[in-house]
Amino acid sequence: MSEKIYCKYCGTERSSVSSLTNGSCSKSPEGKYHVPYEGSEKSKYECKYCGTERSSISSLTNGSCSKNPNGKYHIPL
Ligand SMILES: [Zn+2]
Ligand SMILES: [Zn+2]
Repeated sequence: MSEKIYCKYCGTERSSVSSLTNGSCSKSPEGKYHVPYEGSEKSKYECKYCGTERSSISSLTNGSCSKNPNGKYHIPL
């Protein structure tokens, strides 16, 4: 089983950190590339600002967050 790496801003999935961070991210407030999610893989992902729960990072980050001070989307904890 190969490990999957997810972008914490948009949920894009890649098999390595280098291939993830080579891709451009439309949702990252830090720059134009994907940023790896550092937490472990979970069955539910919770927004660190408002506590909204979704079953995947991509569905969480597709939702807009009224409490995120740095951007408009939910960010996984
Ligand atoms: Zn991304
Ligand atoms: Zn949120």
